[in-house]
Amino acid sequence: MENVNLKINGLNVTAPAGSTILEAAHAAGIRIPTLCWLKEINEIGACRMCVVEVKGAKGLVASCVYPVAEGMEVRTNTKRLLDSRRRTLQLLLSAHDKKCLSCVRSGRCELQELCQELGVDDEDHFAGERNHYEPDTSAVHMIRDNNKCILCRRCSAVCEKVQSVGVIGPNNRGFATFIGSAFEMGLGETSCVGCGQCIAACPTGALYEKDNTDDVLEAIADESKHVVVQTAPAVRAALGEEFGYPMGTDVEGKMAAALRRIGFDKVFDTDFSADLTIMEEANEFLERVQNGGVLPMMTSCSPGWIKYCEHYYPDQLEHLSSCKSPQQMFGAITKTYYAEKMGIPPEDIVCVSVMPCTAKKFELQREDQYAAGVPDVDISITTRELARLIRRVGIDFRSLPDEGFDDPLGESTGAGVIFGATGGVMEAALRTAVEKLTGKELEKVEFTEVRGTDGIKEATYNVAGMDVKVAVASGLGNAKMIMDKVRSGEADYHFIEIMCCPGGCVNGGGQPQVHADVRNFEDVRALRAKALYDNDAAKTIRKSHENLSVKKVYDEYLGHPGSERAHQILHTTYVKRTIN
Ligand code: SF4
Ligand code: SF4
Ligand code: SF4
Repeated sequence: MENVNLKINGLNVTAPAGSTILEAAHAAGIRIPTLCWLKEINEIGACRMCVVEVKGAKGLVASCVYPVAEGMEVRTNTKRLLDSRRRTLQLLLSAHDKKCLSCVRSGRCELQELCQELGVDDEDHFAGERNHYEPDTSAVHMIRDNNKCILCRRCSAVCEKVQSVGVIGPNNRGFATFIGSAFEMGLGETSCVGCGQCIAACPTGALYEKDNTDDVLEAIADESKHVVVQTAPAVRAALGEEFGYPMGTDVEGKMAAALRRIGFDKVFDTDFSADLTIMEEANEFLERVQNGGVLPMMTSCSPGWIKYCEHYYPDQLEHLSSCKSPQQMFGAITKTYYAEKMGIPPEDIVCVSVMPCTAKKFELQREDQYAAGVPDVDISITTRELARLIRRVGIDFRSLPDEGFDDPLGESTGAGVIFGATGGVMEAALRTAVEKLTGKELEKVEFTEVRGTDGIKEATYNVAGMDVKVAVASGLGNAKMIMDKVRSGEADYHFIEIMCCPGGCVNGGGQPQVHADVRNFEDVRALRAKALYDNDAAKTIRKSHENLSVKKVYDEYLGHPGSERAHQILHTTYVKRTIN
């Protein structure tokens, strides 16, 4: 690619032609503050935080959208620029609920940070008439509070461009502009899929998950309840970020120790039920292949994807695997097999899940998720909520020892742990399905073609003389491309993995929010996914069908994968929904 030479703050800088001033400055180690800019998602140059001076240009220019040119001379930090940024912040604050003391985002809020950085202490500089909004609490998973919205539009850009959902966006004009849904419907009335990617994108406390941490503490305080917790694979790859660990640090051992100290009676692992899912899903796939069932079969672990399919592709539901998600399988087996084994009535067990996902709060309330006549899972909290809980009860996370999970629902294989990355479910399923089909042990368990953070991956494997064509998609915009091909009959895949969030659960809407300064320049998904693949590589058992505890559950209780009992407990159905 052709390069251009320019000067930024008097330094000679070389940058690829076509890049923006902001990108060129970043590559040269010069930080320009931003608020509305999300790389390749929201490049609207609207907030005016990233303004710079360009010699010869009329007025200040937005560096996030202004391309570099040969011989250009740029200044990023003059007094005029700092004053302009301060004024921008003062204007934003004039329409803002400044409740930093109690705000869920305080300490990690990009607006708060910029105010501190630029020394904006006269928050009421432009005080005057402003709009007040009733927070939207209608969705199961999240709250939207426009009183803290700065109209950056990062949320609506993600919802529409990345997730192809588009249920939120600016309503009205000028002073009356606010972010909402069409016809001012509550988010819960729309076809929002609950992914939380808007929360992950929001720089302020305007969007946040419904907090269930008090429900967890209440359950633990109730001595008549046996409270078990399960942790999804991706949580261990990101929880450490909340406590100052570098991105991609696997904190599985400290996480288990923290959960024990919070007071859970048993600390279990969703990786166990990820292995169980593979047993059922691989069996279902083989049955469909051998008996002329509906193909391609599609994975069903991701509740945001399921809801998306129900709203936008209700005519394609027969492609979905009937397997419950690992969260729900875990709850179902806890309230049946484990309850019987321990002699505890299922109604006295509280099953809490820690998930990288906000859609799980919706999933646990779905119909047909009551294997023992009570909800399979009672409370689902996000990775962020777990971090909040750890702080709230006064645990010094960094000083904790590494501890393991409890038996019998804490044992897992490497296949279970890679569920958290895009392609992981496919790889885990292939490790089992190929051995079942060929009757031979795999020489190499890695299926690297389905790894990586590309939005769509395809591969063909020759298994026992049959070409098995698979596809993997993450992010609903990519899912849409695959689904349109399936609907039109153009796709000739046998098996498709779809994850709602781009990059899979490691980048779920419930994971620690990543500051735009990092998100725009680092491959967050790859860093977190690496923690899971390293965890897998370090395991002695890496195939779900070799999980001894899972085998025991089949021997003692379920019979075999796909048995009638397994179907009653571990499988589910879907509903046709409309688009709102
Ligand atoms: S959104 Fe940020 S600035 Fe606003 S109250 Fe919350 S922490 Fe403070
Ligand atoms: S949760 Fe997902 S689908 Fe719902 S508004 Fe946010 S980004 Fe859109
Ligand atoms: S809700 Fe958050 S992301 Fe959306 S426009 Fe407001 S501040 Fe920006």
